[in-house]
Amino acid sequence: MKWSISAHNTMRRCHRQLMFTQIVASHNARDVERREAFILKQLQYINTWQGSLIHEVLASSIPVALQTSRKINVEEMSLKAKELAMRQFAFSKAKLYRASGQTKSAAGDAFCALAEHEFDIPISQATVDRVFDAIKLCFDNLASQREFLQLLETGSRHKTEINMPFKLNGFTISANPDLFFISVRGKKIIVDWKIAESETSDYSKQLIVYGLALLSNGWWPDISATDIELYEVNLLKNYVRKHPFDADRVNEAEDFIFASTAEMTGLIGDIKYNDLESNEFEPANSPLTCAFCNFRPLCIQWLEKKGQSIENIFAVEKLLKTNSNDLAGTTNMIQGSLL
Ligand code: SF4
Repeated sequence: MKWSISAHNTMRRCHRQLMFTQIVASHNARDVERREAFILKQLQYINTWQGSLIHEVLASSIPVALQTSRKINVEEMSLKAKELAMRQFAFSKAKLYRASGQTKSAAGDAFCALAEHEFDIPISQATVDRVFDAIKLCFDNLASQREFLQLLETGSRHKTEINMPFKLNGFTISANPDLFFISVRGKKIIVDWKIAESETSDYSKQLIVYGLALLSNGWWPDISATDIELYEVNLLKNYVRKHPFDADRVNEAEDFIFASTAEMTGLIGDIKYNDLESNEFEPANSPLTCAFCNFRPLCIQWLEKKGQSIENIFAVEKLLKTNSNDLAGTTNMIQGSLL
């Protein structure tokens, strides 16, 4: 079985959502429900999308820029993100993510599936302008982080969105930090970009899991925790936070993964799609969680099929009838509290 920090967060939000992501969603399945779950799994709300855009541009630009000029051109990245935003928005608006053969790998960087388009929620020009403003702000903020940029520009072996899987408690632990490089002092640096409004969200668990991945995946057999530095860089709020990493944090990361994987085993174990009829997965406790859940349409069908309560979903439908400004506000609130 596979475990990731995002699967853990999904489990915290809603067991039924975990079921849809881990068991039901399948790109290759012939079953209509499973393919639909796969499409819904790819949806993101506009606030999350602005973060994805910035991540994509940073991932594609940083290694190239540092190999060619040893300098990060923040202005160029900002323009690139805006151009990408326009192409992705057009792709999503036309609902091309539903077209046959339009997978992420086939469509390239234009691929985008916005939940607002899928659920016919109006997107005002003001909302789109806010995305462009956020993109500019994030790159301006990056330009202002001179000390961090110097660390980045003087480093070597930059790699973005690397895959550092390792085994623990019978699971394959998936760890994909946004950026890895080696500093001039020889430290192994892991960076995770955040594009989040909330300054109080705690990303320390995610960062220490990445540190544990670097210790465990065999790239450097003799590496120790003190050789690793972990940075959370919030480009929207403009701060760089260095997370401590030592032997105690390694134990903490292992304990956290052990506890989470044990809980996940208890919930989904080796349950297959065809076994689902006889298995129960609890819905979310709060209708606010349902309000921004991609699987809402499938969940409604699922609950109705089983003759179960759909009170949460009714609350969701009421929420979705609010206007788009309210919706954006609620999205911020949920992202701040849940992600
Ligand atoms: S709609 Fe609600 S109960 Fe259903 S999967 Fe989503 S969060 Fe869970």
